Amino acid sequence: MGMTIPKEYGGLGASFYDCALVIEEIAKACTLTARIVVEANMGGISAVMAYGTHEQKAFCAPIVLAGDKPAICITEPDAGSAATEMQTTARKSGDRYILNGTKHWITGGGVSKLHLVFARVLDENGNEEGIGGFIVHHDPDARIEPKGFEVVRRERTMGLCGMPEAELKFSDLEVGEAFLLRPSAGLKRSFAQLMEAYNSQRVGAGTIAMGVAAGALDRAKDYLKMREQFGRPLAEFQGLQWMVADMDASVHASRLMLREAAKTAQVSATGFPDMMMAARAKLFASEAAIKVVNDALQMFGARGYGDQEPLERMYRDVRMFTIGGGTAQILRTQVAGNLLDIKTPQTREGYVDAADIGSVRAVGE
Ligand SMILES: Cc1cc2nc3c(=O)[nH]c(=O)nc-3n(C[C@H](O)[C@H](O)[C@H](O)COP(=O)(O)OP(=O)(O)OC[C@H]3O[C@@H](n4cnc5c(N)ncnc54)[C@H](O)[C@@H]3O)c2cc1C
Repeated sequence: MGMTIPKEYGGLGASFYDCALVIEEIAKACTLTARIVVEANMGGISAVMAYGTHEQKAFCAPIVLAGDKPAICITEPDAGSAATEMQTTARKSGDRYILNGTKHWITGGGVSKLHLVFARVLDENGNEEGIGGFIVHHDPDARIEPKGFEVVRRERTMGLCGMPEAELKFSDLEVGEAFLLRPSAGLKRSFAQLMEAYNSQRVGAGTIAMGVAAGALDRAKDYLKMREQFGRPLAEFQGLQWMVADMDASVHASRLMLREAAKTAQVSATGFPDMMMAARAKLFASEAAIKVVNDALQMFGARGYGDQEPLERMYRDVRMFTIGGGTAQILRTQVAGNLLDIKTPQTREGYVDAADIGSVRAVGE
């Protein structure tokens, strides 16, 4: 937890690359634990560490280092892939902002202490200034939600059941202006800049998917050597050997793409992985992982379908990674936009351009 937090704020100052190595190993054993580690290193906390003031960093770092997994609150009932169509507002009032709106599918919502809430920032006259990120602190251990912060419900999901996906409602929630992240590009471009942090989160999410696939492959290899049918180990059947080879190639290709993307953070001006490489790697790894885990489950026969083996859980868990953190379709749109040099409303650059001409409507996550 917090291994990427700089040493001056109490962390290890580890790179996203180092962090990805750790996440892969954890994901082989537990998808959910790996998700927590991603969120505590590559999610909202990395945005705070990159764009926060000294006070914001000094406030958030110890909370994460003590074990908190910050929640990122972007998605709304009417703004999923079209993230910048969010309707949550933060209106300036003296030295505070007043937040109103609903977020859903927030991982750890209401359980985490830190929430990075994205909202349309309005000045005192109600004029829109851009989309900003607010650090909202809430202590679930105290069992008292801050006034105006409500956990409406928890979604029921097919996998990843150990952490809530919550719907949150903000009703005149007061947040001090000191808790608004202010990237250097200014509020108008704040969303696009804050989303750079999402590139690392995507490398993390892709690494989880790849790690789960690697774990499933390890289990399948062991099983093929152990289980006998027709008087010989399953490992001796060519049909299964070829499946194992394809699974290995998929995992290895995913690993290389993800590590390549993670490494770019060390040389990029933003300090975050390259957007195109992160999108491409997460796209490839998440789709490959679903197939690899599915094939591993197949090799276990009925045991794979039963809940005595971890495969059925791994399958349910890994299915999520083509949806959360940028769907496979949105990632394809971003990769294609980059390849063809097209700025569409579905790309972050398109969002920035739209913001420049005063029409802040576009998508991205
Ligand atoms: C387990 C889980 C955890 C999540 N955690 C968080 C979280 O912590 N914080 C948060 O803010 N959000 C979170 N999300 C929400 C997630 O980011 C959204 O689900 C995602 O952005 C897609 O939005 P949507 O579900 O509304 O789908 P929609 O945007 O309604 O899309 C529906 C389908 O249409 C496709 N589609 C949409 N637009 C296009 C297009 N232009 N071209 C082609 N296809 C398109 C999509 O790819 C998808 O297949 C989580 C989701 C899940 C499942």
